[in-house]
Amino acid sequence: MMKRTISVLLAVMTVICLAFTATSCGSKGYDLEKETELVMVTNAAFPPYESKDGDTFVGIDVDIAKEIASRLGKTLRIEDVDFNSIITGIETGKYDMALAGMTVTEERKQSVAFSDSYATGIQVMIVKSDSAYQSIDDFFNYDEEGNPVSLKNPDIKIGVQQTTTGDIYSSADVTGWGFNDLNEDESTKTDRVTRYPTGADAVEALKTGKVDVVIIDNEPAKSFVDTNKDGSGNSVIRILETEYTNEDYAIAVNKNSTELLAKINEILAEMKSDGTLDSIIAKYIKAE
Ligand code: GLN
Repeated sequence: MMKRTISVLLAVMTVICLAFTATSCGSKGYDLEKETELVMVTNAAFPPYESKDGDTFVGIDVDIAKEIASRLGKTLRIEDVDFNSIITGIETGKYDMALAGMTVTEERKQSVAFSDSYATGIQVMIVKSDSAYQSIDDFFNYDEEGNPVSLKNPDIKIGVQQTTTGDIYSSADVTGWGFNDLNEDESTKTDRVTRYPTGADAVEALKTGKVDVVIIDNEPAKSFVDTNKDGSGNSVIRILETEYTNEDYAIAVNKNSTELLAKINEILAEMKSDGTLDSIIAKYIKAE
């Protein structure tokens, strides 16, 4: 009986949700007049954008969020969750805005609304320092036009943080610069990509030889290189000079938070022109 009631309830909820259509089920969006608190969601394992110093959240995204909250006259609260719960949490209205070094993708745009971009992200490839890999050309064979057609080493193992763009791109087939075979049957395919909960876990797997390459955003990659040194102070991992992809970071909000989104874009533009954004970035990323 209980079971039946629950399933009826679920069916009703589904219908109600469908009535809200492709926008955000159940959430009316952020009410700029009524709300006093602004809740930022992130995954605080992504330095220098977000990490924890003891119990305190620090990083570029954290400082940007503080600035937005203060210019809106709201109290900022930060929630630290798995990267793959961020989009759903924004969609359902559990959190107000996501700042997580998050790349704008077409697929994510189906679920959330993105602000103007505030930073450029680059996906890079990290290998062990003693690895023979030197550039992206060591992974792919190309056709005459320079499009990848096959892998040089079919036994290669790639490590990524689950559901990030590093995961999405590397999981594609080889003609899309991914590491999986073309048109392979899902049930028999050898997936060359291993997905880890955090970037740090993927780097651990690289160090212990479980994967050959980690594909991850450039700035966290640099901080992993800095924090993984041997006894003589040399990094045990290194970043290949060739980029894997280039992308835009933006703030994600619920599709119904149109007022909030407009305000965020206004504030980002102000922060760009008054120098606040540059000084936040300079605080965490030292010029090379
Ligand atoms: N920029 C990447 C993405 O959006 C990774 C972000 C992250 O791990 N926090 O998928």
